[in-house]
Amino acid sequence: MASKSPEALERKRKRFRDWYNKNRDTQLIIQRARAKADRLTRPLVYWAKELWKLYRITPDKYNELLVRQNYVCAICKESERAVNPITKQPKRLQVDHNHKCCPGRTSCGKCVRGLVCRICNEALVKADSSKNWIENLQTYIGR
Ligand SMILES: [Zn+2]
Ligand SMILES: [Zn+2]
Repeated sequence: MASKSPEALERKRKRFRDWYNKNRDTQLIIQRARAKADRLTRPLVYWAKELWKLYRITPDKYNELLVRQNYVCAICKESERAVNPITKQPKRLQVDHNHKCCPGRTSCGKCVRGLVCRICNEALVKADSSKNWIENLQTYIGR
């Protein structure tokens, strides 16, 4: 049997790469579809997965924080006002973490500080990212 030409080998490699890439995309699509289905049909499972993926905490830990905070935002002491458009129920308070420990959206779990409403979370993000924002705000509103 004659040894294969470099061109033939390259074609073979390309076929494999194409198959691999196509298959990987298919797997990703399946994963996303499953996550979406979970979100609608098994919201608690979806929520638990998201909690773990983003903040490395369990629903038990979340509920523990919620009870400790008296079911209200850790900052403004009010309930969440945002409503889930599908269930029409108030949304859950958001998990806040120390961005000095974990910059970005995800937490290692150890730096989770508490649960906050969306408005306070926005303010926190602003205060973390914009230097002197709190002082400037106080000056602006006249303290
Ligand atoms: Zn709040
Ligand atoms: Zn952290």
